[in-house]
Amino acid sequence: MCVTLERAVVVGASLAGVRACETLRHEGFEGEIICIGDENHVPYDRPPLSKKFLSGEWDADRISLRRPEAIAELGVRWKRGTKAVQLNTDSRMISLENGDDVSYDGLIIATGGTVRRLPNQPDIAGVHVLRTLDQATALRDDLREGSNLVVIGAGFIGLEAAATAAQRGVNVTVLEGLDAPLVRALGPDMGSAVAAVHGRNGVVIRCSVKVALIVGEEKVTGVELSDGEVVPADAVLVGIGVSPSTDWLEGSGLTLSDGVVCDESLCAGPANVFAAGDVVRWPNTLFTDIEPLMRVEHWTNAAEQGAMAARNLLAVSKGEPTTPYAAVPFFWSDQFDARIQFLGRTTTDSHAEVVAGDVASGKFCAMYVTNNRLTGVLGVSMPKLVMPSRALLSVHTSPDDARAWFADKVASA
Ligand SMILES: Cc1cc2nc3c(=O)[nH]c(=O)nc-3n(C[C@H](O)[C@H](O)[C@H](O)COP(=O)(O)OP(=O)(O)OC[C@H]3O[C@@H](n4cnc5c(N)ncnc54)[C@H](O)[C@@H]3O)c2cc1C
Repeated sequence: MCVTLERAVVVGASLAGVRACETLRHEGFEGEIICIGDENHVPYDRPPLSKKFLSGEWDADRISLRRPEAIAELGVRWKRGTKAVQLNTDSRMISLENGDDVSYDGLIIATGGTVRRLPNQPDIAGVHVLRTLDQATALRDDLREGSNLVVIGAGFIGLEAAATAAQRGVNVTVLEGLDAPLVRALGPDMGSAVAAVHGRNGVVIRCSVKVALIVGEEKVTGVELSDGEVVPADAVLVGIGVSPSTDWLEGSGLTLSDGVVCDESLCAGPANVFAAGDVVRWPNTLFTDIEPLMRVEHWTNAAEQGAMAARNLLAVSKGEPTTPYAAVPFFWSDQFDARIQFLGRTTTDSHAEVVAGDVASGKFCAMYVTNNRLTGVLGVSMPKLVMPSRALLSVHTSPDDARAWFADKVASA
C-alpha cells in the first residue's frame, strides 16, 4: 500500500521520537513534521539521570539530546507540554489533552515508558520515582550526606541511583522482593555477582523482603516490611520498573499487549503507523526462538528503532519495501567503578557461565546459553571482550563454539 505523505506526526519527543524526526529530514522528507511531547523540556537524555546528573556533576544543559541550533535546523513543529489522549486510525487523527486535534498522513509512536508505582504509594514528601528530569531533580535535591535513602527494587535504575547516592555520602539500603538483585535481566547468580560491587561500597542490599507500606505523615520516615520491621528513611526511591505508555492508544484498534505490538518492520498495523523505542513489542528475528515478541528498554534500541521507523514510513510512502529491524540488544550500566555491559537476551531458562576473569575480582565476562545456543554476553569492566562478541550473537552460535571463541580471545589478550 502506498501512503501519500505530506504530514508526518511523531508522538513522544524524546530519544526515539527525536531520532525519527531527524531521520525523516536526513532522508530527504520535505513535508511537515509535528512532534508532540508531554514534557516541557527540550529533549534530553535519560541515562545520566541516575548517574552524573543525580550526582550533581552535570546540570540539565549537559544532558540535552541535541544543541538548540540542531533542533531548530530540523524544521519540526514541536508541541510540547501536551499529551496525546486518543488515536483514531480511520480518520488519521490524534486528540490532545489541550483540546486540539492533529491530523497525520504518517504516524510514529514513540511514547516510551512510565514508571510503575506501588499500589499504596503515598504522595508525600521524600517519596520518589525516577524517569524524568523533574523526578531526577527532586531526588537529587533530597540526597543529603549522612541521610538515609531506601531504594525499593534492585533493578538497574534502582542500583545505579543507589551507587550515586552512596558516593554522595548517603546511607543506602536497597529492598528487593526476589531472591537476588537484577534477577530479571541477568538471572540470580550473575545478578548477585554484578551487585556485589554495592556490598564493597557500603550499600546494604536486602533480598527476599516484602514491602508492606511507606511510612510518614507529610514526609516519609521509613519503609515498613511485611514482618513489621520499619527501615528508617529520609527519602525513598520506588524503582519497580516501567510500563509502556499506551494508555492513549486504548480503543485505537492497534494491538496492545505489554506495548504496541508491531511486525518485523515496526509497523503497528495500518501501513502508515509505525512505532519505536521502549513502547514497542516486536518479533526480533535474531531471537524469536527464545522470545517470540520482544520489548527492550535500552538506549541503543530506542535510537535505532526511531531511525528505522522513520525510514520504513518513508519507504511505504514511496511504495518501496520496508526493512525488518533485527538487532542484538545492548545496554550498559555504571555502578561505582564497575562498567556493566550486556549484549543479547536471557530468559528464565538461560544458563550463565563465566568465560573470562573471575567474579571475586569484580572483573569478569559470562556467556548465557538458552535453547542450546549463545543468547547473551555479560561483561563487568571487560569492554574489550564484550563488544566484539556481538557478531556471535547475530547468528546461532553453539555453546562449544562460543567457549572456544572466548578462550581464544583470553589467550591472545
Ligand atoms: C534513569 C534512567 C537511566 C537509564 N540508563 C540507561 C543506561 O545506562 N543504558 C541504557 O541502555 N538505557 C538506559 N536507560 C533507558 C533509556 O533511557 C530508554 O530506553 C530510552 O530513554 C527510551 O527512549 P524512548 O524515546 O523510547 O522513550 P522515553 O525516553 O520514555 O520517551 C518517551 C517520551 O514520550 C512522552 N510521552 C509519553 N506518553 C505521551 C503521550 N501520550 N503524549 C505525548 N507524549 C508522551 C514521555 O513523556 C517521554 O518524553 C535509562 C533510563 C532511565 C529512566
